[in-house]
Amino acid sequence: MVTTTTSPIQHLWTLTSPLPPAVLRSCRRCHRERPFDSSGKFRLNANGRRLDAWLIYRCRRCGATWNLPVEDRVRPRDLAPAVLRGYQSTCPTLASQVARRRSLLERFGRLEAPQEVEIAVSGAVEGRCDVVIDNAGQVRWRLDRVVAHALGTTRSEVGRLAAGGQLAVLGEVRTAKALRRSVQHRQRLAFR
Ligand SMILES: [Zn+2]
Repeated sequence: MVTTTTSPIQHLWTLTSPLPPAVLRSCRRCHRERPFDSSGKFRLNANGRRLDAWLIYRCRRCGATWNLPVEDRVRPRDLAPAVLRGYQSTCPTLASQVARRRSLLERFGRLEAPQEVEIAVSGAVEGRCDVVIDNAGQVRWRLDRVVAHALGTTRSEVGRLAAGGQLAVLGEVRTAKALRRSVQHRQRLAFR
């Protein structure tokens, strides 16, 4: 006997940002707020038995530097050897990890929404299906922009799908409003 299932196909969209976020800060040379990008380089200062480490950022417009404090008077032996070596050798992986510590960065300025976002889709959206969005990296993009990017369409078309009831944001009363907000981790969409 053949049984048919009524539950829709479930897809997964995984968001990643190829570049770490820029920090919006007042630039002392430009005299206005500018995005500062990680240079990927560390600066170290050994003072007696204590170590300070910074990740060097640069103003995107004029190149002025700003140092993000990463370690404050830490004893080198308290650091994992790989981390200490990473600071000393300007390890690109460690620099990229530090530059993605949003809670650290947010202490020093607002974070710029990424210019580029990559969305890995587990399958084509055709007919009735649900989508779960993996945004563990907390990419800050408007949900309608994410949907448009994933479907290869425009935000206005996404708005039309929502208005016509073909797209719903699960757990939200007003889809149109939810589409204008930043995409959440594990947010769920329904295409009908
Ligand atoms: Zn500047």
